[in-house]
Amino acid sequence: MANQNHQTGIHHITALASHPTRNVRFYTNILGLRLIKRTVNFDDPSVWHLYYGDGTGTPGSILTFFPYPGLGPGRHGNGQAVEIAFAIPQTALAFWIDRLVVNRINFEGPFERFGQTWIRFRDPDGLQLELVADATAPDITPWTAMPVPPEYAIRGFHGITLWEDNPEDTTRLLIDILGYRAAGREDNRQRFIARSDNAPARIIDIRHTPGFWRGASGAGTVHHIAFRAGNDDIQAQIHEQVAQAGLTVTPVRDRAYFRSIYFREPGGVLFEVATDTPGFTIDEPVEQLGSALKLPA
Ligand code: ZN
Repeated sequence: MANQNHQTGIHHITALASHPTRNVRFYTNILGLRLIKRTVNFDDPSVWHLYYGDGTGTPGSILTFFPYPGLGPGRHGNGQAVEIAFAIPQTALAFWIDRLVVNRINFEGPFERFGQTWIRFRDPDGLQLELVADATAPDITPWTAMPVPPEYAIRGFHGITLWEDNPEDTTRLLIDILGYRAAGREDNRQRFIARSDNAPARIIDIRHTPGFWRGASGAGTVHHIAFRAGNDDIQAQIHEQVAQAGLTVTPVRDRAYFRSIYFREPGGVLFEVATDTPGFTIDEPVEQLGSALKLPA
């Protein structure tokens, strides 16, 4: 049974990086995101956990990193989420192309996909990023202290692409449990859209790449995707459905800013389901987000 009556879509995406300083410089100075939280990996407190987002930490705008200094590069392949797409306003593409050129960041495109224009580039660790000109990009709160004018600023995620050997079971999970609907196909790419209007981060694409090599974890690869559960009851319902589907799912873990469950989807990508509450302002006011190191209790 689908969960139709709550916000769905991506809550946050977490990836691996090598050098924390280089990571911060790229995502704040170049992409204009706000560093909204500096904390540590709750499962390995010797490692930073850096959160970037819009001006207020809106779910669907949150990209987080575990930066391990000296970590070697991973390999993109099947069983991974590979391309992270950010939404930008329809009129912002020329601004971003110019910005990448000025900052000597190689990019490819513009290309067309599902009627939208987009470009592709990589972060300093090789993480694959896209900017998608999206006429329906949600009007979230850009971070105005950064050198990107608000009218061109990133509007949260557009979505993310999974590379899969065999998408059938993953498709069923997205539709039957996580609240997505199938929204067409282009070449070997199938699109799924979350059933919530005007929320950021509504797209999951599955790229069907049978026989391609498996991905390997390392710098520049996605660690997991977290989906939104509006509250604990919805999360409990999803927990039960995931377990009934025969997948191994963790108990609820307290991540201070949200509560989470984790499971590996049938294709191998690590999924999390995170609550919107209590949110990133639980331990510092919105004006001071990211300004101090925050440690778990
Ligand atoms: Zn997470």
